[in-house]
Formats: sequence, C-alpha cells, structure tokens
Amino acid sequence: MRYVSTRGRAPILDFEGVLLAGLASDGGLYVPERWPMLTRDELASFRGRDYAEVAHAVISRFVGDSIEPSTLRSLVGEAYTGFGHAAVAPLAQLGANHWLLELFHGPTLAFKDIALQVLGRLYDHVLERHDARTTIVGATSGDTGSAAIEAIRGRERATIFILHPAGRVSEVQRRQMTTADAANVHNIAIEGTFDDCQAMLKTMFADDAFRDALRLSGVNSINWARIVPQVVYYITSALALGSPEVPVSFSVPSGNFGDVFAGFVAQRMGLPVERLVVASNENDILTRALTTGDHRLTEVTPTLSPSMDIQVSSNFERLLFEMHDRDAEYTAGLMRQLAERRGFRIGAAAAATVRSLFHADRCTESETIETIASVHRDTGMVIDPHTAVGVAVAERLRGARGTPMITLATAHPAKFPDAVEHAIGLRPALPDRLADLHDRKEHFTTLPNDLPTVMAHIRECMDQKRSTAMGQ
Ligand SMILES: *Cc1c(COP(=O)(O)O)cnc(C)c1O
Repeated sequence: MRYVSTRGRAPILDFEGVLLAGLASDGGLYVPERWPMLTRDELASFRGRDYAEVAHAVISRFVGDSIEPSTLRSLVGEAYTGFGHAAVAPLAQLGANHWLLELFHGPTLAFKDIALQVLGRLYDHVLERHDARTTIVGATSGDTGSAAIEAIRGRERATIFILHPAGRVSEVQRRQMTTADAANVHNIAIEGTFDDCQAMLKTMFADDAFRDALRLSGVNSINWARIVPQVVYYITSALALGSPEVPVSFSVPSGNFGDVFAGFVAQRMGLPVERLVVASNENDILTRALTTGDHRLTEVTPTLSPSMDIQVSSNFERLLFEMHDRDAEYTAGLMRQLAERRGFRIGAAAAATVRSLFHADRCTESETIETIASVHRDTGMVIDPHTAVGVAVAERLRGARGTPMITLATAHPAKFPDAVEHAIGLRPALPDRLADLHDRKEHFTTLPNDLPTVMAHIRECMDQKRSTAMGQ
C-alpha cells in the first residue's frame, strides 16, 4: 500500500513511513494512493466475528506488507483487551430505527482510545524493529492527552510529555492524565491557555536542534494511522443492522473531521452508506463549509462539548483532495488561501460530488442540554454533551426513516459530569475500573507560560532518564 500527500510534493511512503512521519513534509496529509475494496461477500463474512478479528482484516488492507501479518494480528488483538465491554463498540437502541454506537468503553472513556490503543502498539513495534527511541510531545484540551498517555504508558521506547492548560480541563480529564504512574509519562500544567500550549508545541517542533536531539514525534489526528482503526466500527455496526444488504446512515459529532472521514473511507471501501451527518457545536465551520461552500475561520467559542471546539479541522483537507479529483496542486492552493486570507470557497461542482453523501448542521448549547434531558426522559439513558450534539442533528437530518441511523457516542457521560448534572440533575458515576480515580495520586509539574523554561524541563527529564539508564 502506497501513500501520497494531499499537496503532492512529499515522497510517496508505505504504511510504516506514514506512521512515523505524521504530517507530510510538504505540509499536506497522507492518503492511500488507491482505496482498498471490500466485496459484498467479504463484508458479509465479517458478520458475527470478534471485533478484533474484523479490525485486523480491515487494518491489514492499509498496512500492506509493511508489518508481518501475524505480528499485526497480535498487536490489534491486544489493543482491545483492556476495554470494558466484550463487544468493544456495542450498539444500543435510542428510538425507532435510531441507534447509539458506544465508542467509550476504552481505558479513558472516549472514542480516541480505539485508535490510540492500536497506534501505541504499532509505534512500539516499529521503533523496536529499527532499534530507535522517540520523545512524544503533545498539547491537549482534554481527551487526546489521556488517551495518548494511556497508549504510551510503560512502553520501552517512547517517553511522552503532555502539556495541558492549568485549571482549564475538567477534574476527571486532569486526573486521567496525571494519575498514570509510569516513568515514561510526564504531565506539565502550563499557567496559560490551550492555545498557549499548542503554540509552544509548534515552536518546539520547528526548533531543528531540539527536535533532532530528542527525536520528537506527535500524536495528533493528522496521522493516517489514527484514521484506519476508526473505519472498523463503521463496518461492524452497519453489519449488525443488516448491511451490506441494507444501507445505513451515521451521525458523527465532529471537530477535527478525523472520525467522520473514517466513515467516508468505509463508504469508499464498499460499505453501503446513505448519509454521513456531520454534527457541529456552535463552532460550526464544517457545517458552513459543507452547506454553503464558504470555508471561513472565526473565533473559537468554548462550549459544553470542548473536544469539538476547533476552527481548523485538519482532516477536512483529505476530503477537499477527494472533492477535487485528487488534484494536489489545487488542494495546496486552497490551503494557502486559508493561511493567507483565513478562508476559501469550495466550487459548486466540487461540492456537488460529496453533497449527496455528506449532510451537516450545528447544535446550540441549549439544544445540547435539552437533548441530554429528552434522551434521559424517553429512554433512561445518560449521554454526554458530544453525543447529544450528534443525536440532535441526526434527528433533524435523518432522511428516509427506513434507513437505520447510527449516532456515534464519542464519550462516556462521566467524563463531563457538570454538563450532565445541569441537564438531568444527576451526576453520572465513573465505571468501576475508574471508581477510585479521585483517590489516586497525581503526578504533574506546573510551569509558567514560558517556552525556554518548558524546553529546559523536558531536556532535564530526558537527561536524567539517560543517566539512570547508564547507571544500570
Ligand atoms: C475528539 C472528539 C470528537 C471529535 O472528533 P474528530 O475526529 O476530531 O472530529 C468528538 N467527541 C469527543 C468526545 C472527542 O474526544
């Protein structure tokens, strides 16, 4: 399997190459040169099989001969053993032909575990094969940090530093990061905002000497290897509701456009998908771009669904590339306009190529609260604010009622207890395996919003590690 950049000026790489590269060297994102196909018979043969088995079958199409098949099988098999539900991604019925796909049974209670648990193991394997080490540095406003720490914790060849804005993540989110007791995990609370953390990260990656000395790498969702494991649950859930004979629709609470793009990939591979509903919160650039063709940046507004408080949805570039018949020059031009003029227009012909599949709408803060309340009233189920955005928009944009609608439940309600309590007057309890989260010891260092101090701290931790290793 070969991968090309959406901007056309980076080397063609294999799966291992794109895993290690993350972003392409021309600033673009890697996509497969050709979409692998699954026939109807192959899809039908997945029905009733273990989640990990289907995951291996789907992921192997993208890995090609980059990783030995038996090794890949065991890496993917291990990835889902720590999940709190045997089905990994079970369906629950919400209403007439409307289903919730529960993606929050992983160790940190958000769907990001489904990809990062695989990614951590892939990293380990590839680094080992090359006898290499890496330092992962990431910034988080909540969910990515804990899922990445959980995936890297205890691994031999990687050390992870996660920057979070001090006092600006929920207590559950902070504790999920800071109670990971492993020598290769370092949490840094920055006395600043998430934007400050992200700006520091960018400067660190742009500092050649620092980047090379520490062999820095990133864990954000532009890495193609994070998209691939997400294709799997689109397939397993559709099969459970009658595909490939029956087409299905999905509603996806969206921020960086990675998750819904995985749904697009499933459709390209041959899954019969009628609609992909892109659900935005009040940060609705995706809705505006898909409905009016005007892709324009505004300010980020903090909402009850913070993991979707994003303006620049990096993965949208992958869809733009597809819309324009994979014209890399043209895609690069649009991205230049975005950088220089904070926006661009999508032509009518290009938009028309995806309009029959993609539907989009936004959900306000009050609708989010009302939806958590009405779902609880009608079904007894408690949903998180991100899922509520997906449910509200799904109800509006369902299309034919005979087509099953699957809304992706992207986080466990206990991750966002304040919003849920505000809606239904109840505080959702953490699952048993995290019940003692509030008693666990926290490990983190608070640093001022000052880049040289943060870089010195990271260097010092790495030097200490090296001298300990030599003393052994
Ligand atoms: C990250 C996240 C999203 C958004 O997913 P994208 O792939 O960035 O579109 C939605 N819900 C939750 C709970 C998340 O953590």
